[in-house]
Amino acid sequence: MRTRPHEDIVTVPRTAIGNRLLAALPPADLGLLTPHFQKVSFEPDAVLVRSGDELDPVYFPHSGAIAFMLDMPDGQTAATTLMGREGALASFSVLGPSLSSVTAVARIAGTASLISAAKFRAAYAQSAAIRNVVQVHARAVLLQLQHVAACNALHRVDGRMARWLLQLHDRVPDDLLPVTQEVLAQLVGVRRTTVTLTMSKLREAGAIPSERRGFVEIHRARLERIACDCYKLMQRKIDRMYCQELAPPQPADTPFRESTIAASDGAGGESKAVSRAGR
Ligand SMILES: [Zn+2]
Repeated sequence: MRTRPHEDIVTVPRTAIGNRLLAALPPADLGLLTPHFQKVSFEPDAVLVRSGDELDPVYFPHSGAIAFMLDMPDGQTAATTLMGREGALASFSVLGPSLSSVTAVARIAGTASLISAAKFRAAYAQSAAIRNVVQVHARAVLLQLQHVAACNALHRVDGRMARWLLQLHDRVPDDLLPVTQEVLAQLVGVRRTTVTLTMSKLREAGAIPSERRGFVEIHRARLERIACDCYKLMQRKIDRMYCQELAPPQPADTPFRESTIAASDGAGGESKAVSRAGR
């Protein structure tokens, strides 16, 4: 990770909180964190945590998407989960200092509030509300892991790829996804040739109207028809969990979309950027 030149820095208003976990905290509990926050931006391919790194700092994404990749000894890689503004990267560091078993790579550019694991652990010990949001998030991650495991065992590549495309689409404001076939191969855990074949099937079905210069345009309704059931089941369960257990409730018709960032106070701090760190 390195800091980008000043002119590239994306500045986010100090008042913007897009992160659903932070937005659910009462002001007093949020106030335990905000003095220690640093605002960062990350671009696609930025590596936020490498496998084997200590889980420190903790990131609360306000926008964008981060994929958790499991690297195999033979060089192959596959995604286990995708996280956006509903999550907190390295929040499980509250269990004590530990090393990451996966590499976290930004797939969609975004911003996050960052806090040291030690400061986050101290706030976690003081605040029942912070403990609650971490627990809800942990259950959502486990649910996603279980679905992805079943999906990889039971469902065809086209349905799985459609699922990943929809999960990415939930975190961008329009129908253009900034992903290459190489990135899709890594997410789905298949060879590039399999991606090319699958993309041509999706194109023939009208689910991918165009694909060029690292952008895939999707037709959401058609892609939803091709995606396996895992997408809707997973999103419905997680959204229900968030709506019921985190206050204030989120609009049910916009589960994880990034088109709007809720305005609130706090979550400010200096701004910097996390840049691409070659893979
Ligand atoms: Zn599936």
